[in-house]
Amino acid sequence: QQQPVEVFHVEMLGASGVGKQALIQQFRTSDCINAYDGPECDVAEQNISIILNGIESELKFTTGQQDNKDELEKADAFLLIYSCIDKESFTRAKHILSRLQDMDLIRTRPIILVANKIDLARSRAVSSQDGKCVACTFGAKFIEVSAGINHNCDDLLAGTLTQIRLKKDQN
Ligand code: GDP
Repeated sequence: QQQPVEVFHVEMLGASGVGKQALIQQFRTSDCINAYDGPECDVAEQNISIILNGIESELKFTTGQQDNKDELEKADAFLLIYSCIDKESFTRAKHILSRLQDMDLIRTRPIILVANKIDLARSRAVSSQDGKCVACTFGAKFIEVSAGINHNCDDLLAGTLTQIRLKKDQN
C-alpha cells in the first residue's frame, strides 16, 4: 500500500529584492522534481514535489510571513535569504534570526542561511566567512547560491528536505 505524500511548509524570509521568487523559480525547473501549482495560490504559495532517497515529499514554499508569528509557527523549516551584494539585507537577516530565536523557533526547526547572487562576484559586499559565522552563531546551515545562474539551487532544495527529515527523526 502506498504511503501518502508528506507535505512540508518552508517559509522563505529575507529583505525584499534578495531573490526569493527567483529561487522558487529555479526550484521549479530542477531536474529531480516534478513541480506544479497547488490549487490555492494566494500568499505566493508554490508547491514542489521532490523524490529524494526514493521517497516523495512535497515542499510548499511561502514568502512574506515574517511579521506573523502564528504563520511562522506553522513552518517546518526556514530559508533565510540575503543578497551577498547588499550589506543591509545581511543585517536584516541577522535581525530576523534573532527574532526567530526569541520566539524559540530555531531549536525545533531547521534553518538555512542562504547567500544569493554570488554570480555578481565583483560587487560582493558580504564575505563567505561573515555568512558562515552568523549561521554558526544561530545553529543554522549555510549555503551560497545564485538563482541567476542556477548555482547550488538543486543542492539547496535537496538540503532543505534532508534537514527537515533529519530534524523530524530527532523529535
Ligand atoms: P524577492 O523580492 O526576494 O522575491 O526578489 P526577486 O526574486 O524578485 O529578485 C529581485 C531581483 O534580483 C530580480 O531582478 C532578479 O532577477 C534578481 N536576482 C535574483 N537572484 C539573482 C541572482 O542570483 N543573481 C543575479 N544577478 N540577480 C538575481
